[in-house]
Amino acid sequence: MMKRIYLDYNATTPVSRKAIEAAIHAMESGWGNPGCTHEAGIEAKRLVELAKERVARMINCHGDEIVFVSGATEANNTVLLSILPHVAKGSTSSHLITTEIEHPSVLNPAIRLMELGYKCTFLKVDKDGRVDPQAFEAAIRPTTRLASIMLANNELGTIEPVREIAEIAKRYGILIHTDASQAIGKIPVDVESLGVDYLTIAGHKFYAPKGIGCLYVRRRAPFFPMFFGGGQIGGRRPGTEPVPLMAALGASAEEVSQTVYEEGPRQKALRDYFYGLLKERIGGERVLANVSLETTLPNTLSVRFKGVESRNLLSKCRYVMASTGAACHEVEASVSHVLAAIGLGPKEASETVRFSLGRYTDKEAIEIAVNDIERAYMELKEERS
Ligand code: PLP
Repeated sequence: MMKRIYLDYNATTPVSRKAIEAAIHAMESGWGNPGCTHEAGIEAKRLVELAKERVARMINCHGDEIVFVSGATEANNTVLLSILPHVAKGSTSSHLITTEIEHPSVLNPAIRLMELGYKCTFLKVDKDGRVDPQAFEAAIRPTTRLASIMLANNELGTIEPVREIAEIAKRYGILIHTDASQAIGKIPVDVESLGVDYLTIAGHKFYAPKGIGCLYVRRRAPFFPMFFGGGQIGGRRPGTEPVPLMAALGASAEEVSQTVYEEGPRQKALRDYFYGLLKERIGGERVLANVSLETTLPNTLSVRFKGVESRNLLSKCRYVMASTGAACHEVEASVSHVLAAIGLGPKEASETVRFSLGRYTDKEAIEIAVNDIERAYMELKEERS
C-alpha cells in the first residue's frame, strides 16, 4: 500500500524524533517538580531552563523573556484580554488595532473586548493578504494602546510587514504583538529585528507536541497574568510546569534554529515545483494561486481548482491529506474570513485548497500528490459532464 502524502503542515506537524526523545528523557529523568529544591526538582528545573534558553536562541531574545503557555490560543488571549486591560488601566475606551485575517484566537478576544466597551479596528488587506503600514498609521488614535498583527497568515501563508508596522507603533508609543505561530520554523524570526513587544509561539506548528507554546514578552514591556496561582515562571504563568512538553519544545526550537535557513529555500523550490506541475497537468487556467507566491511562507500554497469543490476534490484523493481552509477551525463550514478578506466570493472560496509542505516532504511525494490530484480532478470533471 502506498503511504499517504501529508501536505497539511500548517494545521500541525508530526513530532520530530529529537522532540520525542527530549520528552521521554524528561519523563524518565526530569519528573520532579521544578519548584522543589531537592535533587529531583533541581534536575527538572535544569530541563526547564535549558528549554527556555533554546527557545530564546531561536528568536534572539533572553531566557527571562520567555513565558511558557499551553499554546498560541493562550498566548494570544493573554495579550488581548489580560495585558491590554492592564495597560488601559480600566479605561475601556482604549483602542486596539488588528487585522481582518487574524486567527480566531485573536479575533474572538478582540470581539470580547468590544463587548466590554473597548474600540477595535480590523485593518483590511490587499488581494495578496498584505496589510498596508500606511493604513495602520492612519488607524492610530490617541487612545490606541496595542496592535496585534500576525507575522504570517495560516491560510494564505502571506507574510505581513510587521517590522515596518512595529516601527510606526514605536513612534506613537503603542505596544505591538505579533502572532508568529505559522512563521516559526518556516522563516527566520528575530524579535530584535522585528521590534515587537510580544510574540506568540505554537509548539505543534514546528515539530513539538501539542499543548505547549510560548509568549515572548520584551523586558520592561507591561505584563499581567491570565491565571493566578503559585509562583511558577515568576508568577507569569502559574501551574506546575509540564517539563516533558517544555523539553520537547526546546529540542524542536534548537532543531529549527539550525535547519530554517536550508529548509526555507528547499521547501520554496518544492512548493513552486508543485504549483508548476499542477498547472502543467490540469491546465494553467484551471489552477490559480490565490495570492502572490513571492510574499508567502515558503511552504504554503493556497490554490483554486476552477470548477470543482475542494472538499469533493480532497475526498476523491487517495493519498493526499490537505485542508480546504484553516484546518484548526474547519468545523465552521462558512466561507473562510481570510479568503473573503482577499476578495474571493463563496464559489471561489469553495474551490480553494490549502497545501502546506514541511520537513518530511520530498520531490517524490510531490509527484505522487500531483498524479493523485490530477486523477481526482479529471474524475470530478467527467462526473459533471
Ligand atoms: N494562530 C495561528 C496563526 C494559527 O495558525 C493557530 C492554529 O492553527 C493558532 C494561532 C492557534 O494555535 P493553537 O490551536 O495551537 O492554540
